[in-house]
Amino acid sequence: MNTFFIEFRDPLFSIIVFFVLIFVIATVSYWFNKYRKQEDYKHLDKFLKQFTTLPSQNELKVLITRGDLSEKSWLLLAHSYAKNGDYEKSIEIYNELLKVVDQVNYRDTLFLLGKTYFKAGFLERSKQIFLNILKSNPRTPQALNYLVLVYEQMRDYTSALDVLEPLEELNKDILSESTYLKSLILLNDMVLSIDEKSIKLLDLYKENYQLTYMIFEYLFRVNPKLAWKNFDNSKAENIVDILWKIDKKDLNFDIISQNGYLRELYTARGDIKEVASSSVFELDVLIKLQQKVNATLSFEYICDSCKGVYPFAFTRCTSCHSIDKSIVELSLVKDYHKNYSEENNSFM
Ligand SMILES: [Zn+2]
Repeated sequence: MNTFFIEFRDPLFSIIVFFVLIFVIATVSYWFNKYRKQEDYKHLDKFLKQFTTLPSQNELKVLITRGDLSEKSWLLLAHSYAKNGDYEKSIEIYNELLKVVDQVNYRDTLFLLGKTYFKAGFLERSKQIFLNILKSNPRTPQALNYLVLVYEQMRDYTSALDVLEPLEELNKDILSESTYLKSLILLNDMVLSIDEKSIKLLDLYKENYQLTYMIFEYLFRVNPKLAWKNFDNSKAENIVDILWKIDKKDLNFDIISQNGYLRELYTARGDIKEVASSSVFELDVLIKLQQKVNATLSFEYICDSCKGVYPFAFTRCTSCHSIDKSIVELSLVKDYHKNYSEENNSFM
């Protein structure tokens, strides 16, 4: 039995104790390091969380009134929140700032708040703010411009038109705004017949030859004959997408044969065979392919003022709010519609 027990003074006992100690130290050190790393990550998470979680309204109130940051810093912060689409936080900052800013900055901050309400879609609040600014400072063109936009979004085109009067008194060019709003009033008129609307829109167009896209989009949709009759050859490229989508039965081949660009466009579409090439790359490729490949034109719209690119046609740019600055850009894409109809026909 005694052979199973190691003597206290046996050298083997010391070696076992030594290894046990090493094992204990290694284990403790391993778990301690693991714990410390976890704590480090937690600290980093806490640190990073500061940049992703937003201060609550009460925290904002305290921070702004304490005055640790300058008004300019708060304005920059509110602007960056709005730019990232967090209008709620931006509005909270402006509202808190309005309680502490001096009289000089009050109107500017109020204007920024009105702008943010407008962008966030709170049109009634935005309107009230711009009306408040104009009540004490009627000659503020920025507020008048935004009030026009607010009324336009509210579909109150007559009130928007009224706001243009003081802008005109301030020597601002209101011609395109005025034509645009008058066109919107006509297009949204529930009493006028389609023919009456078309005639009145054409009369409006002939006053200053603006808003070609907006007016001819309506005319080609409701009365292609009238649209062709009043078609301005020099504006063909501006409405190329509308022309490209007209039904073959609605084409006026007399007018098309007299216009070089239209001849190229409809040869590319395969309606006629009057030209062998085009100076426009996309049309040239389609003419040379002669319908042998499933390709068609695709369109995108660039604002000539702010260079914003949009997939849909627009008359007023949603970014810079300029009117009639859209440029149509062509590109070649696969014609899925043609592919689909051919696949369907193959079953017949
Ligand atoms: Zn623009």
